[in-house]
Amino acid sequence: MEVIDSYGMMEPRYYLAWATDEAIRARGANGGFVTALLVSALETQFIDLALVVKKKSVYEGVPVLTNDPEQVKESAGSLHGVPWNLAKLLLECAPDKRVGVPTKPCDARGIIELAKRRQIALDNVFLIGLNCGGTVHPLRMRELAAELYGLDPDTVQKEEITAGKLILRYEGEGGATQEKGLKIDELEQEGRGRRDACKSCTTKLPVMADLACGNWGVPKGEQKTFVEVLTDKGAAILENALNKGAITVEDATEQSIAVRAKIERAMQALAARWKDELDVLTDNSPSERLAFYTEQLQRCIHCGACKAVCPVCACDEDAKCLDLHDEQDAYAISLYNLLRILHLMDSCIHCGQCEEVCPVDIPLTLIQRRFSERMQAHLDYEPGMDVTETPPYQETKLRWSADAKTSESEGA
Ligand SMILES: Cc1cc2nc3c(=O)[nH]c(=O)nc-3n(C[C@H](O)[C@H](O)[C@H](O)COP(=O)(O)OP(=O)(O)OC[C@H]3O[C@@H](n4cnc5c(N)ncnc54)[C@H](O)[C@@H]3O)c2cc1C
Ligand code: SF4
Ligand code: SF4
Ligand code: SF4
Repeated sequence: MEVIDSYGMMEPRYYLAWATDEAIRARGANGGFVTALLVSALETQFIDLALVVKKKSVYEGVPVLTNDPEQVKESAGSLHGVPWNLAKLLLECAPDKRVGVPTKPCDARGIIELAKRRQIALDNVFLIGLNCGGTVHPLRMRELAAELYGLDPDTVQKEEITAGKLILRYEGEGGATQEKGLKIDELEQEGRGRRDACKSCTTKLPVMADLACGNWGVPKGEQKTFVEVLTDKGAAILENALNKGAITVEDATEQSIAVRAKIERAMQALAARWKDELDVLTDNSPSERLAFYTEQLQRCIHCGACKAVCPVCACDEDAKCLDLHDEQDAYAISLYNLLRILHLMDSCIHCGQCEEVCPVDIPLTLIQRRFSERMQAHLDYEPGMDVTETPPYQETKLRWSADAKTSESEGA
């Protein structure tokens, strides 16, 4: 399985682009560029499949792996209340199939880490990156609608994040559509809003993907998608859509490029502040931290959900970590939890998926982050960012096995 070969990097290029089909453009989050790109790639057999998120409601979306352009058209738009990580869903796909997948930075990072572990053939995957300001847990979104917006959550038809506000559109009196918007900053100061993992996520642009698409840098009121072309693969799928007449493209102005960069910097600074604020252990002594980890992890019921959703855990059914746990053991922290912390120290991307599914609400993002961030800084390795870099733990294992072979051949 080829993973890294022929993954050509190129100088970035910046465009504003939109779907030429007015229905796709109207349904799209910004210019409908991503949908038009995928639809035209399917129609021309440039790709075999697309992995998209189809809206069920404002609070629910389901990932769909499809070869049907109509399904892709139905998935246009951004769902901020759907924090799925799509990386592991690509494992369902035969490695020889060419797939296009819109990816938030954490989706793309997970896919790249799985590719490095020979689980995904990255040459056949087109990462259509989406800039990402963050996601809100669907239950928290419902609570927000009811408690802060004063709405019946089931009347909300659409959500949108624009100019720092979460806007909810709902069916008002007489069936007319009305909207209410509240500032995300203010919601978050009250402990509401985005998931903690998103608040403290500093990777806002999918620079590791083939394309980076978003609305930052698009002039106000224009229905266009800002697109950065990052690789030859990104250029090829974009060119395919252009040749098909599916998209219109114009160069981004210097001003658009500068505005996008400025917003990215501001979002990164905000994330850095959240990271400090959410780290409740910063001022604790080592023994207080150990007491915290023990108290939290002792509540684990060893359901394995955190492992199942973790986008960088590639062990699948070969995993030994859950088997290591024995209810008869009296360890303060189970071997399962210790092994997961150790195993992921080089590769955790801090996406928070584990915490979302934990049935006993263990603050797993914080715990994994505290261990992995320090180790990753020490190893000078940022997982999921550069496909050409081998995960340090994998490198160590390979070096050990290479050393073992040398010793064997030397008769040691
Ligand atoms: C959760 C989220 C947060 C975002 N935050 C920002 C931001 O802060 N700043 C910015 O510039 N851009 C942000 N974007 C990107 C922006 O909203 C648009 O997706 C992008 O500009 C492309 O627009 P489009 O009209 O070309 O896409 P469309 O043609 O509407 O296609 C969008 C594609 O995104 C997929 N999708 C929808 N929801 C999700 C999801 N939750 N996870 C994965 N895929 C999904 C759909 O399947 C669809 O194929 C965000 C996107 C998402 C999903
Ligand atoms: S972890 Fe980062 S990339 Fe992933 S959804 Fe949250 S903000 Fe977006
Ligand atoms: S351990 Fe948790 S935060 Fe880290 S990559 Fe896995 S699911 Fe994401
Ligand atoms: S999801 Fe929570 S309870 Fe289940 S194994 Fe993971 S830490 Fe334990």
